[in-house]
Amino acid sequence: MNFRAEYFHQDHLGNNRLTFCDFNNNGRIEISDDPGTPENELEITQETHYYPFGLEHKGNWYAIVAPDNNYLYNGKELNRDFDINLYEYGARWYDPAIGRFTGVDPIADQFAWVNPYNYAENEPIANIDLHGLQSFYAANGSIVHAGPISNSEIKKRNLSKIPIVSREQWRARALITGSGRSYEKIKGSLKSYYNSIVIHHSGNEGRYKTVSGVQDEHMDGASKKADIGYHFAIGKGGEIYEGRPIDVKGAHVNLANTGKIDIVLLADLDTEDQGLNFIEKLFETSDGELTPEMGSSLITLLSYLVNEYDIQELGGHNEVNCERYCPGNLIEERLQELRDRYGLDTPIGETGNN
Ligand SMILES: [Zn+2]
Repeated sequence: MNFRAEYFHQDHLGNNRLTFCDFNNNGRIEISDDPGTPENELEITQETHYYPFGLEHKGNWYAIVAPDNNYLYNGKELNRDFDINLYEYGARWYDPAIGRFTGVDPIADQFAWVNPYNYAENEPIANIDLHGLQSFYAANGSIVHAGPISNSEIKKRNLSKIPIVSREQWRARALITGSGRSYEKIKGSLKSYYNSIVIHHSGNEGRYKTVSGVQDEHMDGASKKADIGYHFAIGKGGEIYEGRPIDVKGAHVNLANTGKIDIVLLADLDTEDQGLNFIEKLFETSDGELTPEMGSSLITLLSYLVNEYDIQELGGHNEVNCERYCPGNLIEERLQELRDRYGLDTPIGETGNN
């Protein structure tokens, strides 16, 4: 039996426009049949074009000369069984004839400004829908040609309309490296590197209220880090801050940072004041709350990260390493609900592999 690879030529939305195959193995693709020979030399096996919402254009295209390739619009599979003609997106089925999903978005609560059946927030030329959950900005080709991405790139990707405050915008300090301050660039694919998300709160002390305050504490405090240790910070108003660049290993969970994306919630979410002694508790006045805006941005960020990096585990700091009373009871009681929402596991715990 002979196998030959068939290749897809995709546009910026991941739509398969042309498929081809080097049948005669001569290192080039024949784009026409030579009428002087009895064989058909044509090696373009299928050509497909689309209306914005995915219905196929009929036209004088290259004919299908191989078994039908049903991976078409957005590279998703068109199911033609019983003539239902729906695309399978993972979370939902999509009907290109009406430009709507056939069911309600399971995370519709995050997208109050659009109908729960919408496709790509009704902007099908700029956006695509990766899994039937939410729209992603794709006009710059970044979705289809995904490689390691920076946090600034995430910001450009129209992350559910919630802007990410860049390091420049919050005036992050310059790195301090050397003298044992670790700053490890991740080699290779971030997707295969990351498997876990760890949630923190900024803690009992009033001075960690802002992302700058947390950065100062990490760089100037006892731990002497090269930069802020967390990859993202979320403020009480729901603003999401770019922390340590996503292609640099995080630095917060002692001896267990490998493979983990760190998110800090900029509030004191430990209203039980665990870890404080009696006197400290008397003077503890910074008990915070998990505001609805903060909770909603956390979900938005998690939805993005879980898909982008194939995350398997989600937990609070003290589930990974119980060295600290973090992230506090107000978020701890929500963790299982968040894990259930994304089908994630509890982190395995202290791995000791730093
Ligand atoms: Zn923590």
